[in-house]
Amino acid sequence: MRVLGNTCSKYRRMSDIIANSRFRRLTRMFFNDYHDEFPIELLRCKGVVTGSVALEMYLGHGAEDPRDFNIVVPRGGIMHIENWLISSGFENFEDASVDMREEMAPVLAQFRVYEGYNRKVTVSEANGLDIMEVIVNSPTTAEMIAMTAGGIIVLYPELATSGKILLGPTGGRYYKEKIRCGSVNGPWGRLYTDNRDMPIACGPQCPSIWRHTRHDRNILVFDWDKRYTIRGISQNCQTEWRLHLSCPNPHCTYGSGKLETSPATNMQIADIELNIIEHIPPLAPGFKGLLYATLCDAPVIVNVPCAEGIPCYRNLDELKVDCWVRQRDTHAAHAQRAKLRRTYNFIPSMPTIPADYAYTIFVEEPTTRPQLNAHVNMFSRNRSTAEYILGNILVVKRTNDEAETSATLQKFH
Ligand SMILES: [Zn+2]
Repeated sequence: MRVLGNTCSKYRRMSDIIANSRFRRLTRMFFNDYHDEFPIELLRCKGVVTGSVALEMYLGHGAEDPRDFNIVVPRGGIMHIENWLISSGFENFEDASVDMREEMAPVLAQFRVYEGYNRKVTVSEANGLDIMEVIVNSPTTAEMIAMTAGGIIVLYPELATSGKILLGPTGGRYYKEKIRCGSVNGPWGRLYTDNRDMPIACGPQCPSIWRHTRHDRNILVFDWDKRYTIRGISQNCQTEWRLHLSCPNPHCTYGSGKLETSPATNMQIADIELNIIEHIPPLAPGFKGLLYATLCDAPVIVNVPCAEGIPCYRNLDELKVDCWVRQRDTHAAHAQRAKLRRTYNFIPSMPTIPADYAYTIFVEEPTTRPQLNAHVNMFSRNRSTAEYILGNILVVKRTNDEAETSATLQKFH
């Protein structure tokens, strides 16, 4: 389907027809006479389809009927889709605490199961408005897939097509006990606990690397019906995700975990600088930054390179800020880093006059339990009102033109 779509417009049209008929077959299977209404209802509640149906849509082998129909809706969307399901002949909904979903509790507000026409439909309501947060916390890579009525996002397309399923951070306990689940129980795939058996280097496909849903890199995004495009789902999505802290594939050149700790002293800063220079493969240059490390008595100018696998700087998300200020909770499967930084492009005393430069301040994730920042606390004027400043602080100065690939750090006040 994907290859067909890429060749030329004639085949693109043909692949659209194949995808449309596949989508109709799957929705008719579950919603019978109401299947024509489903695309509109899904659009109205801003939901996506995931799990076995989305996987069947992508792989299209038709070897086995999907067991259940899994819908994910953003916070507040469950009542709408529930009303429609009930009016379409579904009933007996239950607030189910299925084993697998318990592990996803941090990202789910509700999980309900509906039955009708001898089929099951599940609805997961996200804790927030970002549906991708639920998708990236799926138990396996095979379930990290999101579909609207006209498009699909596959986060691990290569693994899915090659029949490899890797356990995600939330899947461990469940799948160790019972190696079965609707979407990954089919004969097409084999479950691996990690990617240590890969015969070659993972390269940019490495599941241990943090990813961004904002860009399409390493993600298959396929639209077959522009009216229900998938791209709106990933727009403005700040979610990043990872499978493992370090990569267990012995051939892998990524995921060494070398740069994971945040340095506190001048000597540790020098070590990190050396790690950046010696990193294999080389890290693309990003910016210079001013680091206020917790145990230093003066700020230090440091290199802030691009993250592993990023060929050149495009935006702040792509900087490897984490080697200086720890922004990732090591126990979480995803991170929303936007809250850990703030950009100032005006002078505080003259907010209406735009400045030539923008300063972005990065702070540490509080759950990583950062230590007191000795230097900043010493010169902080608001000590009576403010809490003590914790953790490293990194300040990056750029011109207001984000496209500029490097900025020189001149003078800080
Ligand atoms: Zn790897």
